[in-house]
Amino acid sequence: MGLLDIVQAGVITGDNVRKVFAYASEHKFAIPAINCTSSSTVNAALEAARDSKAPIIIQFSNGGAAYFAGKGISNKDEKASILGAIAGAHHVRAVAKAYGVPVILHSDHCAKKLLPWFDGMLAADEEYFAKHGEPLFSSHMLDLSEESKEENIETCPQDILDIHNAFSKVTDLFSIAAAFGNVHGVYAPGNVKLHPELLGKHQAYLKEHLKVETNKPVWFVFHGGSGSSREEIQTAVNFGVVKMNVDTDTQWAYWKGIKEFYEKKRDYLQAQVGNPEGPNKPNKKVYDPRVWVREGEKTMVERVKEACADLGNVDRL
Ligand SMILES: [Zn+2]
Repeated sequence: MGLLDIVQAGVITGDNVRKVFAYASEHKFAIPAINCTSSSTVNAALEAARDSKAPIIIQFSNGGAAYFAGKGISNKDEKASILGAIAGAHHVRAVAKAYGVPVILHSDHCAKKLLPWFDGMLAADEEYFAKHGEPLFSSHMLDLSEESKEENIETCPQDILDIHNAFSKVTDLFSIAAAFGNVHGVYAPGNVKLHPELLGKHQAYLKEHLKVETNKPVWFVFHGGSGSSREEIQTAVNFGVVKMNVDTDTQWAYWKGIKEFYEKKRDYLQAQVGNPEGPNKPNKKVYDPRVWVREGEKTMVERVKEACADLGNVDRL
C-alpha cells in the first residue's frame, strides 16, 4: 500500500498530513522540505518529487517569501513576506495536482521578531478555510531558539518532553526541530559533528515518560542537513526524523546548471546578434530565460532527487 492509497495528490492539510508523517515514521523514510523562492524553484521541486514517485514539502522562508512577492515591494511590517507566502502557496496549489504527488505546504523559521509574518499567514489560512474548509498552508514553523529559556526549549530529553506536553494540549499535529549538533549552511569537512543518536535517546525518554507503546512518540525535523553524510541522515531518519530541510544544496544546484550553461554557450551570450556561426546569427534561443533558467531547474531537479534518495523518499506512492 502506497501513499496515494491513503491521501490524494496535491496539497494536503490536517489529518492527511498526520497520515503522511505517520506513514513515513513507520516506513523509516523522511520527506525533504525544499526551500523555494520562485515559481521556477517550486516547479523544479515538484518535478523531482514526481520523478521520485514520492511526496514533497514545499517550504517558504521569510526572505524567500518576500522574494516571491518581488524585491521591488517594501517589506515594512512583513508585507512582502506575507504576500509572497500567499502567492507562493496559491501557485503550489494551482499546479501541485498535475505532478501527481502529495504536497505539504510549509513555512520555515519564524523568530519572535517576525511574528507579524506568522499572523499574516494565519489570517490567509483562516480566509482560505472559510471558503474551502481547509487552511491555505499545511503547516508553519515557529522558532523561538533566539529567546530566553522561559520561552524556549534547549534540546535535552526533559525539554523535548516539556514541549511535547505543552503542544499536546493544543494538538497532536506537530513536529520538533531538536538540535543534535546540526548547523545551517555548508562548512569545510570536519567542522560539524552530528549526533543523530541523541534523537534515539530523546525518543526512549519520551516513550518511558509518556508510557506509550510506540518507540518513536515524536516526529523530528532535521535542519541544517547540508553536507551531512548519507549514513548520518539515515541514522536520524531511523530515530524518527520525518522532515529534512534542504536549502543551501539546492541553491548551489540551481546556480550550477546556469553556470555550466553559460560556460558552454559563452560565445552565444555576448550580444543579441552575432556568434561563432556568423556576425548576423541571432542568439535569442540561447538568452531566452526559458532556456537558461531551465538549465538551473534541471540541476536543481537532480539535487532534489538526490535528497529524496538519501532520505528513502523514493517509490512511496
Ligand atoms: Zn532551519
